[in-house]
Amino acid sequence: MNMEAVGRFAPSPSGRIHLGNIFCSLLAWLSARQKGGRVVLRIEDLDTARCPRKYARQMERDLQWLGLTWDEGPGVGGPNGPYEQSARTEFYQAALALLEKQGLVYPCFCSRAELHAASAPHREDGQVIYPGTCAHLTAAEVRRRSRETGRTPALRLRVPEEVISFTDGHMGPYGENLQKECGDFLLRRSDGMFAYQLAVVVDDAAMGVTEVVRGEDLLSSTPRQLYLYRLLDLQPPAFFHVPLLLTYDGRRLSKRNADAGLDDLQDRYTAAEILGKLAYLGGFNPGAGPRTAAELLADFRWDRVPTADIPIPEGLF
Ligand code: GLU
Repeated sequence: MNMEAVGRFAPSPSGRIHLGNIFCSLLAWLSARQKGGRVVLRIEDLDTARCPRKYARQMERDLQWLGLTWDEGPGVGGPNGPYEQSARTEFYQAALALLEKQGLVYPCFCSRAELHAASAPHREDGQVIYPGTCAHLTAAEVRRRSRETGRTPALRLRVPEEVISFTDGHMGPYGENLQKECGDFLLRRSDGMFAYQLAVVVDDAAMGVTEVVRGEDLLSSTPRQLYLYRLLDLQPPAFFHVPLLLTYDGRRLSKRNADAGLDDLQDRYTAAEILGKLAYLGGFNPGAGPRTAAELLADFRWDRVPTADIPIPEGLF
């Protein structure tokens, strides 16, 4: 049986959408649509303080304005809702229970400040490789620490001394030794918020996603996620990581700096003009002329898209 392709947009609405988010959404849309597949929109608002509802609604309007349509998600509905992570806690709780049953979850009392102060080794992305400080606390110690700190502990997943590797559909082979290069990672923070790594796996699987297209900054999260797919006995999707767009002087775009935000662009360009320029940067629009998403379907090919980060030339936007 030929499985229907299901792609997704998974924005974190912590600000207005920027060109990098749009580039990624465009590729996700084209990749799924070209296979005759569907697209799901899921709002990744686990961090409700940083992701107020009004940003999510704005993001939906922006995607609609760009012509990047979705078949399942906010405003459309579908069988696998709710489509906001802030409303999906029970699913994460259930997955956590399955991991706990396997004896792989332990409470951790380390604060972020303590971890940084402990000069634990860091990953390339700046995160601490967890040194295992709380990995072997006894039940009595856990009770004592809870009492002393007055804190609910965070929860971590024990990871194996094993290289978890896969072949990215765009970036090629990638692997990571979870114990050496990552360490036991967070499933739930001490304030009760579930971690992105767990939520994204639970949701992509529950929503039948067959291909994940997202920024290259998440390539190094994929081995952790694949490990979760294995433990939860879920079918992983194919992964396609997309180069990041940079400012012309080589900085990463950020919502915080209002870099290349849509509010400014919308006053100056039509949706087709924006998409046409992005497709040009992606190698599948020969000029930088206006093209709608539907028009780009004929020319999009993964092997035309660069693998290195892409500085946006001065004057293009
Ligand atoms: N919510 C994440 C973001 O906006 C994307 C997560 C993912 O695609 O797996 O950066």
